[in-house]
Amino acid sequence: MQFHLPTAEVFVPDGLPVEAALARTTHLAIAAHQDDLEIMAAEPILQCFQRDDQWFTGVVVSDGRGSPRDDLYKDYTDEAMRLVRFKEQKKAAVVGEYAAQVILDYPSRVIKDSANLQPLEDLAALIAACRPQVLYTHNLADKHDTHVAVALRAIAAVRRLPEADRPRHVYGCEVWRDLDWMVDEDKVVFDVSAHENLQAALLGIFDSQICGGKRYDLASLGRRRAHATYYASHGTDVATGLTYGMDLTPLVNDPDKSPQAYLQEYFQRFTQDVMGRLARLT
Ligand SMILES: [Zn+2]
Repeated sequence: MQFHLPTAEVFVPDGLPVEAALARTTHLAIAAHQDDLEIMAAEPILQCFQRDDQWFTGVVVSDGRGSPRDDLYKDYTDEAMRLVRFKEQKKAAVVGEYAAQVILDYPSRVIKDSANLQPLEDLAALIAACRPQVLYTHNLADKHDTHVAVALRAIAAVRRLPEADRPRHVYGCEVWRDLDWMVDEDKVVFDVSAHENLQAALLGIFDSQICGGKRYDLASLGRRRAHATYYASHGTDVATGLTYGMDLTPLVNDPDKSPQAYLQEYFQRFTQDVMGRLARLT
């Protein structure tokens, strides 16, 4: 597998050759940063855990150089920080039994530059090599620029592939901004009730991010629990953990539709829901 940057890495926890490791992928997730996969793609990671017929491959597009740092890591240079974050991501791949962990090593400014096609081309080659059934990336209403840029590149990459090679489903997932605002009919609901211990372990690996006082581990598990309770106002909780996805499949399969127009449809349904209730009750 040849990427644009010579420093890009593919790590295969069980040592299978890279091409074979990627080819077994059934669930592929493409995220901006080290730790985003474990926050947003818990469901496919759990689904593929301890299976030999379903495999999760994670892709991190950025290099981790610009990460905030504190405590134990406060004097680390950008390069030292990059190495720590690569190491943490590989540890997660071992614990979660990923088919492969890819790190493309792009600086954020390159990812955000829509004129630079290198990240998109790498992603298209990867998706073609993995031919996943399901693809997960960031949702388009996320509030982090690099996350949204990664989602846009992933969508563009899938659109380049022949229809037969595209994943059957493409979902945008939650990191910086959850998807509770979407009307219930629009939510793609992922049950992550199982293996809470494993979820905690995966989130806890990213010490360099948590150590500075950002408890992404507790926050992510708390969000999953909150979704499970607040999903439906009637009846008792069936699941103890949920995450939400935005279905991006129609957008990927319709090259004439802009991401803005597609998102506008979600906003309209949200507006109708809120305004309709107010009108009914006023
Ligand atoms: Zn991120």
